[in-house]
Amino acid sequence: MGRITLDKVTKSFGDTNVIPPLDLTINDGEFVVFVGPSGCGKSTLLRLIAGLEDVSSGQIRIDGEDATNLAPAKRKLAMVFQSYALYPHMSVRKNIAFPMKMAGVDEAEQKKRIDAAAKALNLTDYLDRRPGQLSGGQRQRVAIGRAIVREPSAFLFDEPLSNLDAALRVNMRLEISELHNQLKTTMIYVTHDQVEAMTMADKIVVLRAGHIEQVGSPLELYREPRNKFVAGFIGSPK
Ligand code: ADP
Ligand code: MG
Repeated sequence: MGRITLDKVTKSFGDTNVIPPLDLTINDGEFVVFVGPSGCGKSTLLRLIAGLEDVSSGQIRIDGEDATNLAPAKRKLAMVFQSYALYPHMSVRKNIAFPMKMAGVDEAEQKKRIDAAAKALNLTDYLDRRPGQLSGGQRQRVAIGRAIVREPSAFLFDEPLSNLDAALRVNMRLEISELHNQLKTTMIYVTHDQVEAMTMADKIVVLRAGHIEQVGSPLELYREPRNKFVAGFIGSPK
């Protein structure tokens, strides 16, 4: 589960084309990083995959099914937003439970999934606190917990760490990588930070003005960047 393919996907806002025809395959269980400068279309691409934006043309398949016109909730993907997207008036437990409540998951199953997510994320002792009583890193983990309990085919992260300070970012980076090792679920991770890309990715997709400049493993891109743009972005000496 978690194989996603984009076939000639395009996106325009009004007369402005933001994503020219784009093909991409994301394999089951892969950790894929979309990297590129601000405004290059990373978030738009992620939102198209999530179904939060409609494609202008082309097809998106998820686990072999045509998902192009599926509502976001039907795509079995979980989008992880920055930590401030938590509900401040709800406990951690209720924040994590919220998507399951919406999906009509029964209480016993909710509890089981919350306990498992809390354990995986070291949040067991914090379930009765409110987001305001947590550190930035803990809040980010709650946001991830809220995604995990939906048992998605893939996790989509849009610059989840950009609100955190440098030390915490390094920490969370390791935690998200560890989580991927544990869950082995497909993850698509958007960042403009080349260090995050190089250290976390199985596969890096380098974007520029909506198109893909190069796709490859961190090592491939470092050793054989296709052009100066990629080299510059990846920090390759070439
Ligand atoms: P990134 O996430 O890489 O910074 P975005 O995907 O947010 O880039 O944006 C790509 C381009 O699409 C930008 O030029 C942005 O202004 C434009 N864009 C994004 N969303 C909208 C929208 N809802 N309406 C119009 N233009 C948009
Ligand atoms: Mg963005």
